[in-house]
Amino acid sequence: MRRLLRVNLSTGEIREEEIPAKIAQEYVGGRGFGAKYLYDEVAPGIDPLGPENKLLLGTGPLAGTSAQSLSKWIVATKSPLTGTYTRSYGGGDFGAWLKWAGFELVIIEGRAAKPAYLYIKDSKYEIRDASAIWGKSTSQAQAYLKRKHGAKARIICIGPAAEKMVRYAPIFSGHRAAGRGGTGTVMASKNLKAVVIEADRSETLANPTEFKKLVREQVKRYKEGLGFEVFRDYGTVMGVDYPGFGCGSFPVRNFRRGDLEGWEKLSFMQYAVITQKHVGCYACMLKCGKIRKLSSGPYAGITTEGPQYETVWAFTGPTGCTDLDATVYADYLCFELGIDTISTGNSIGFAYELFEKGILTTKDTDGLVLNYGDPEPMLKLVEKIGNREGLGDVLAEGVKRAAEQIGKGAEEYAMHVKGQEMPGYEPRALKAGGMNYALSNVGANHCYGYSSQEIGNPKPRLVDAAADDDKGDIVKYNHDTVAAFELANCCHFPASHLDFIDLDLMGKLLEAALGVSRFGNADYLIYVGEKVYNLERCFNIREGFTRKDDTLPKRMYTEPLQGGLRDGEIIRKPDTIIDEYYDARGWDRNGIPARATLAKFGLEKVDKDVAGFRR
Ligand code: SF4
Repeated sequence: MRRLLRVNLSTGEIREEEIPAKIAQEYVGGRGFGAKYLYDEVAPGIDPLGPENKLLLGTGPLAGTSAQSLSKWIVATKSPLTGTYTRSYGGGDFGAWLKWAGFELVIIEGRAAKPAYLYIKDSKYEIRDASAIWGKSTSQAQAYLKRKHGAKARIICIGPAAEKMVRYAPIFSGHRAAGRGGTGTVMASKNLKAVVIEADRSETLANPTEFKKLVREQVKRYKEGLGFEVFRDYGTVMGVDYPGFGCGSFPVRNFRRGDLEGWEKLSFMQYAVITQKHVGCYACMLKCGKIRKLSSGPYAGITTEGPQYETVWAFTGPTGCTDLDATVYADYLCFELGIDTISTGNSIGFAYELFEKGILTTKDTDGLVLNYGDPEPMLKLVEKIGNREGLGDVLAEGVKRAAEQIGKGAEEYAMHVKGQEMPGYEPRALKAGGMNYALSNVGANHCYGYSSQEIGNPKPRLVDAAADDDKGDIVKYNHDTVAAFELANCCHFPASHLDFIDLDLMGKLLEAALGVSRFGNADYLIYVGEKVYNLERCFNIREGFTRKDDTLPKRMYTEPLQGGLRDGEIIRKPDTIIDEYYDARGWDRNGIPARATLAKFGLEKVDKDVAGFRR
């Protein structure tokens, strides 16, 4: 039996529920359960920060087993940043503990009357007083709960920025964040500071012999895989040296340039010098996390588990800085305050450009002079955003809302999709990747459909990054493949990036673990992934999102990219790629799934919700 825990913070009622066999079979788990329950239980038009919104915490069906890279946890909710469906993944080991506690999903409803945390142990569930940790940093809150509940407890929590309603606050497990879309802000709106689980290791497998054989095969593939040791030893910051600069796709100065002068100071070899230890999520031999310590300079003594590639980008490219120590310190600040590094760095890059244009002056910045290349004002703005002080209070709304507040044409410089700030891959340099941002259900998000075919992955075919069309099918392929992997919360690094695990192997692991033969068929997983993608799209359509929202900032269509391999590029035919994508999906010209498309996935009941939006 697969189970969920339903927690109503308004009434204090907590109850276990069986996940019906039909849902378990038809949605597999992970992102599938998140999309299904969110669609069914969150009515359109509700305030994402109101008690009517729900926060879904999920783990995967293979979490807590010896299968590699399959123990991540997912948060699904209506985003306060975008107003769309969102899903965000966190690492660490919370996913394994949630599974051992006996649940694949926790549905959190309502709002507690005062700061609270949820405590789960065996069959005991309690909503406890969190007043002692409300306002505390993420490390302080986790340390307090560890002291209280012991070393065997595992924790997710939010930081003070979430409590102040910064719209892009994540939820953290250790240092790992479910980073995007404001999942932590929703948790804070419910007065929920943390979830604590105490659980003993447990594993129930339908076919343990076969499962162990498959895990051995998986481990062999990892060890023999191209790039395994390099990725383990250096982690994601390798991206600074390869896709970032090699392709000229590292967005610089608020997405104007594709290369960063002085990038060599940020090479992965430089980060290796300050790396002390490799750490990973539960049951992942890739250990992409790096404990780094600064032993000299203005931030001497700072230790952090990071920064990852995206964070290095966020605190260099947008502001034109090349100060490695500042990236480590910014990572530390974002963790302690509890804010998303990508949205924070992008928002600061937006402010730097407004300052350059004279739209913001020192009167607006509390005297900060936002000069490119200077990390000091950048770091001060990180703190201001986390504490919602001065200009930080405006930027904490995200660049879309901040631009509306600032006026004076500021929206021209807000680099977002559907309200979510764009990450560290330049759309004009990797155009399928750019159209992934435009078409994504969660706003700009590289993890939602990373276009590895533009940097050499031949599956299903290589793609010319600079080509202006013939990409819609690839964007769809990437969206559906990621969705299929995420049915088991599979990490995208060994899947889409390194090709160490494919859907065949993941399917066989699911079949051996759960005893459901259809899960062993990769085509079935792709079918379910595509169904989930359509359901998420319909969630957004119910909220009023249509083709008009599947777009990139105007700059991408009108201003040639400067510098790097893709110097001079613009996205010339976005509508052509969007039409290709819609045709491949069976959607109409307004981006609404056709009735026959929904019927193919058994989503006939959803049809009535979206029919009125069709062209
Ligand atoms: S590759 Fe990194 S993020 Fe992915 S599961 Fe392993 S340690 Fe976690």
